[in-house]
Amino acid sequence: MTDYDTQLAVIGAGPGGYAAAFFAADIGLQVTLIDPEERPGGVCLYRGCIPSKTLLHAAKLIHEAGEIMDWGINFRKPVINIEKLRDRKNDVVSKLTGGLGQLIKQRKINYLRGIAGFRDSHTLTVNLVDGEQKSLRFEKAIIATGSRPTLLPMLDHDSARILNSTTALELSSVPKKLLVIGGGYIGLELGSVYAALGSKVTVVEMTKGLLPGVDRDLVRILQKGLKDAFEAILLETTVKALKIQKNGVKVVVEGADGDTHSRLFDKVLTAVGRRPNTTDLGLENTGIELDGHGFIQVDDQQRTGDGSIFAIGDVAGEPMLAHKASHEGRIAVEVIAGKNVVFEPATIPAVVFTDPEIAWTGITETEAKEKSVEYQVSRFPWAASGRALTLGRSDGLTKLLVDPTSERILGVGIVGAGAGEMIAEGVLAIEMGANVTDIGLSIHPHPTLSETFKEAAEIFHGVATHVYRKRRR
Ligand code: NAD
Repeated sequence: MTDYDTQLAVIGAGPGGYAAAFFAADIGLQVTLIDPEERPGGVCLYRGCIPSKTLLHAAKLIHEAGEIMDWGINFRKPVINIEKLRDRKNDVVSKLTGGLGQLIKQRKINYLRGIAGFRDSHTLTVNLVDGEQKSLRFEKAIIATGSRPTLLPMLDHDSARILNSTTALELSSVPKKLLVIGGGYIGLELGSVYAALGSKVTVVEMTKGLLPGVDRDLVRILQKGLKDAFEAILLETTVKALKIQKNGVKVVVEGADGDTHSRLFDKVLTAVGRRPNTTDLGLENTGIELDGHGFIQVDDQQRTGDGSIFAIGDVAGEPMLAHKASHEGRIAVEVIAGKNVVFEPATIPAVVFTDPEIAWTGITETEAKEKSVEYQVSRFPWAASGRALTLGRSDGLTKLLVDPTSERILGVGIVGAGAGEMIAEGVLAIEMGANVTDIGLSIHPHPTLSETFKEAAEIFHGVATHVYRKRRR
């Protein structure tokens, strides 16, 4: 340690970086955490998961208040105070980041507010936000610099009429007509927020369906809901030209039939994917290599091609999800501390926080077909769930992909209200190697949506109480 200023330098204080730094400090390492923000949080807390979920919850309340008019309860049309909504979102963010700031102090982590780049395999140059430059010798480093939105070259990203996930979350105004380019996670989540706040939202997606890669039976149920919420969903459609005018943004789109149409929008939100943050890190001064997609190449211990440097999170490959980043962070720290561990989760869950939510874990049906994996599928429609009916939320489906021989759960897909919470049971089932009998024998509380998981397992043997299926055996 004598030759070094710090035992472990962590670059980037998002959910990957701060989780790694906290864990390293907890097991006795001397840690320096570097990030340009005043407090840890990263994209997830400042410009991603947390602000978007705060707004999505407001969107859900607006939606539900409208739905219950049919039940004999009439709320007046919601009056949206955009400033207050923005304040609440900012308040949630500052409470959480403030808490992390406290945890940094309690753990005695050296927090440097600045941007770091490698000078060599053991030295960082840190450009501090106050203008000072600092040299930091480290024994080991973890890169956790995350990702940034992919920019479409045809757009003037400096225009206030062009939004990305960051600027859209600032909620500067609610445009009357919003075009969302990209029908993936961000496009659908933020499109839902703006639609609930009163925008007429059009989504343009270049592939055949929303959320490419996600099972179609799940997406179909979401899409039914989104059709009511959005002005239009244009599939197999691309943007050919875009012109910023005084009265809005004129957009020319081309559909699957090759026909082009011109439309005028007040604002355009691009959500066409994210790119790893690897530039300006001085990687050329290290032994680190990138893969064909621009991600830092790592092994199953999060080691890069440079013996003293590790990488975790979005910068180290798909899926670009916060929970994968924090888990990788713990693995990297354990390896640095001398433990012989590897990153090998049985499954990494994914959730799209639309209304209804879509969540999946383990193998998807799409993937099983592509890879010729043998499976049997059990589907429990929420129309047969008492709890779903009490909530007025029968727009859901719980399905299990099951190994026909071992009867183990291979994958779980859920669409419906609260699917993001329920998927955790699927994660546990897969991690523990549970089979359908284990799930069927586990008493689930009544009346809850979690019963759909148990009944989906029972369907496999044709013995679910609320769905009749001819018995398989
Ligand atoms: P995405 O990959 O989910 O979706 C991008 C979509 O844009 C795709 O459907 C793609 O086909 C489409 N597309 C690409 N180029 C296009 C074009 N020129 N015209 C029309 N459509 C086009 O990407 P995203 O929504 O930007 O999100 C990025 C990543 O951030 C996600 O992959 C995810 O890992 C992460 N994320 C996760 C969550 C969550 O966990 N709930 C939320 C937001 C973001």
